[in-house]
Amino acid sequence: MTDIENNIILLNRELPSSVRLVAVSKTKPVPDIMEAYNTGQRIFGENRVQELLAKKDLLPPDIEWHLIGHLQRNKVKYIVPFVAMIHSADSFRLIKVIDQEGSKVNRIIPCLIQFHIADEETKFGFSLDEALSMLSSEEFRKIRFVSICGVMGMATFTSDRKQISKEFIKLKGYFDILRDNYFSGNELFKEISMGMSDDFKIAIEEGSTMVRIGSIIFGERN
Ligand SMILES: *Cc1c(COP(=O)(O)O)cnc(C)c1O
Repeated sequence: MTDIENNIILLNRELPSSVRLVAVSKTKPVPDIMEAYNTGQRIFGENRVQELLAKKDLLPPDIEWHLIGHLQRNKVKYIVPFVAMIHSADSFRLIKVIDQEGSKVNRIIPCLIQFHIADEETKFGFSLDEALSMLSSEEFRKIRFVSICGVMGMATFTSDRKQISKEFIKLKGYFDILRDNYFSGNELFKEISMGMSDDFKIAIEEGSTMVRIGSIIFGERN
């Protein structure tokens, strides 16, 4: 058995059945992805459109590709025909473009609202107020080709487990507020995408339904 196969099998033993694994394959070559695929892994996450497009054509068609990194509006059109989920819907402007491009290919695109929950300034995402005002707006009601399936967030890069836990609790709280006020009875709104290699155990304790893990599976990136 290869290291990647071994890593993914061990990791799967740690994940409750309620939590789905997004294998983050950014920067990793096609043969590495095939090794993970051969263990049964089908959901892969990439953060760059160019890289995703290049790899996709060399890999099996039953892979579910998830876009997890910041998406530029002019690149949306390249992924809407096939992308299984966009975790990084980080602005209303972007969501409107996803809707327009989705309508052109007549495909409803599953998206997560990305929230800014970390201390760091540079990370993309909505504040709670921004999300609430988007969801309350007249304009949002016209959106037909985006299906909001939940929320996503990244915790601060810190060894302070209490802080990480607090940030994940905050994201779960946002999820609950949105569900209760805008998505009650909507069975598609159910995902909380949180947790990476260093903090996925904390994320699972705080209610994650999807973890996005790269390094543990494929090794450190350069
Ligand atoms: C790279 C990345 C991950 C995975 O990071 P690891 O620490 O390698 O598990 C998860 N989510 C996002 C948004 C990423 O960009």
